[in-house]
Amino acid sequence: MSKIGFVGLGNMGLPMALNLVKAGHAVTGYDLSAEAKAKLAEAGGSAAASLAELAAGVEVIVSMLPEGRHVEAVYGELFALVPAGTLFIDSSTIHVDSARKVAAEGTAKGHVVVDAPVSGGTVGAAAGTLTFMVGGTDAGFAAARPILEKMGKNIVHAGAAGAGQAAKICNNMILGISMVAVCEGFALAEKIGLDAQKLFEVASTSSAQCWALTTYCPVPGPVPTSPANRDYQPGFATAMMLKDLKLAQDVASSAGQATPLGAETAQLFRLFNDQGNAARDFSSIVEFLRGVK
Ligand code: NAD
Repeated sequence: MSKIGFVGLGNMGLPMALNLVKAGHAVTGYDLSAEAKAKLAEAGGSAAASLAELAAGVEVIVSMLPEGRHVEAVYGELFALVPAGTLFIDSSTIHVDSARKVAAEGTAKGHVVVDAPVSGGTVGAAAGTLTFMVGGTDAGFAAARPILEKMGKNIVHAGAAGAGQAAKICNNMILGISMVAVCEGFALAEKIGLDAQKLFEVASTSSAQCWALTTYCPVPGPVPTSPANRDYQPGFATAMMLKDLKLAQDVASSAGQATPLGAETAQLFRLFNDQGNAARDFSSIVEFLRGVK
């Protein structure tokens, strides 16, 4: 079993770290939040007071941080603190360029760095059923795989450094667009007097079925585990969805690829986010589309 340092114990990171603890790994966590660290320590892990303390004796670093700037800053410190050959697995969703930058910096210092962003949300993180899309060398993928298998079910080697992030932003652009589509369907149903449960029963077994509908239904009732049933507590915050849509637009623009629905969806989430909804689950955009928020 490995000695793992886990950085970023938020909505996703904490349940992922807990699955590593359950699998028998020695997990030390670091987060800016003392409360998050205490939760890991209570569940059989341990808490580090600093990145330097986290780095002591560690063989693997796993990170689940908000944005590229956090990953670049944390890795910049850790690369110098750990012995050469340490495996770094970053599961945050960040810019493809940022992932390539840290991979190049880490590799130059003799470390093994993979980007391994996830799909599956907090439910998948808790259940250990996440999908990991991995960017890195064959050797990096082989080294990361046994660790990732303790936190997820589908592990895909997407290609070289940054390819995991490329897969992630394409996936989340599709998710953002499909969530808006599902929300529009429920908004229209409500306006014309069709019961939401009935729409769900039809659409979830018909040609409109998709994850945003069947697993994450944006209205209360049809899917009891969806954030709509707990006043849109995240889950996956609107600010995070907006971040991913902006990453996709940025990459699409540099690559010269038109993504008209991705662009429109990014604009909708920008408006919704800026109306005080950044911390609410992204599926709450249904209220905006229903004209009630
Ligand atoms: P979160 O805000 O709940 O957690 C991030 C954690 O990082 C927080 O606990 C914060 O205190 C900590 N942190 C920030 N800066 C730090 C630093 N410098 N050092 C140590 N800790 C630091 O976010 P989350 O929902 O867990 O998302 C994390 C990443 O996973 C994001 O990149 C997000 O896009 C991605 N993601 C989230 C979901 C989801 O459903 N929430 C799904 C897939 C991917």
